[in-house]
Amino acid sequence: MLLACAGWSCPRLISVSAVSGGNPVAREDPEGFATRFMTCEDCGHHFCDRCLGRISGQQPEGVHCVRCGGPLSTRYRFRYHEAVSASVPEAIRHYEQALTLVDEGRREEAVRELDRAVLLRPAFAAAYYERGVALRHLDRPAEAVTAFEAVLRLDPGNVEARFELGGALRRLGRLPEAAHVYREAARIEPRYTSTLINLGITLNELNRWEEALEVFEEAIRLHAEFRAIGDATGYGASVAQAGKGATLTNLGRYAEALAAIDASISSGPDDPLKCANRAYVLKRLGRLEEARLAAQVAEEIRRRT
Ligand SMILES: [Zn+2]
Ligand SMILES: [Zn+2]
Repeated sequence: MLLACAGWSCPRLISVSAVSGGNPVAREDPEGFATRFMTCEDCGHHFCDRCLGRISGQQPEGVHCVRCGGPLSTRYRFRYHEAVSASVPEAIRHYEQALTLVDEGRREEAVRELDRAVLLRPAFAAAYYERGVALRHLDRPAEAVTAFEAVLRLDPGNVEARFELGGALRRLGRLPEAAHVYREAARIEPRYTSTLINLGITLNELNRWEEALEVFEEAIRLHAEFRAIGDATGYGASVAQAGKGATLTNLGRYAEALAAIDASISSGPDDPLKCANRAYVLKRLGRLEEARLAAQVAEEIRRRT
C-alpha cells in the first residue's frame, strides 16, 4: 500500500509493507519512497521521515503535526478512517467546514470558522494559513500578514506561508520587506521558483535591476534543468523569461530583452502585456514596422481576452 506524504512539495510516496524492513523495491529507491513515517492522529495526514526531520530539525519523536498541531504516531496506520468517524476534534471540524466554505466562495464565513479552529487549537498552522489565504482573497492584506506570521511562528520552514506573506506585503506596498521575505523563502527552498519570480518582480520595481536579473536567470536555469518545484500553472519558465525581459528593458539592454520576451511569448499563454513590451523594445531597436505589428497583436489579444 502506498500513501502520499503531506510534507510540502515532497515527491516521496510512503510504502506501507507487511514485509519486515519494508518493501524491497521501496528500500532501493529512497528518493521515491519512504518506509518510515508518522501519521497525525487528528487530521490523518502522513509525513515521511525526511519531512519529519525538516519539521523538527531533530529526531521525529515528540514532534507534532505541522498542519494541525495534533499528536503524531508511528503505531497509527490503517485506523485513520475509523478514527475520523469516531471522534474528530472540534477544531478540525471547523477547519474542514472552512475548506468547504472556501470552495463555495463563502470566504467571510470561512474566516469565522477558522477563527473558531485557532481559538480551540492555537497551534493549528494550517488553519492560520487558510485564514491568510482567505483574507488575501477578501483584499484584507494587513490581517493576512498577521495570519501568515502566525503560521511561521509555528512552522518556520513553511515556504508557502512565506511566499503568501510576501504577496500580502506587496499588496500593502511594503516592497523592501516583501523582497526580504522572498529571499528567506528562497534560502529555505531554492528550487521553488515562484518565490524567485516574485522576488525578481519586486526587485525590478525597487529599481534593483542587476539583482532582479540574477534572480530571474536562476529561475530560468532551474526550469531548464527540470529542478523547479511547485510550478502550479506550468508557465513558471515563461513568467521568468517575461520578468527577465522587463528587467533588461529597464537596463536598456534591448536586444537581450527582445530574446527573453520572445522566449516568454513562445512558451506561455497569449498575454497583451508581453506583446506591448515587445512592441516597445522593437521601437527602441529602431525596428519600427515590426513594432507596429507587435502593437497590433497586443491590441488584438486585449480585445479577445
Ligand atoms: Zn494533523
Ligand atoms: Zn515527505
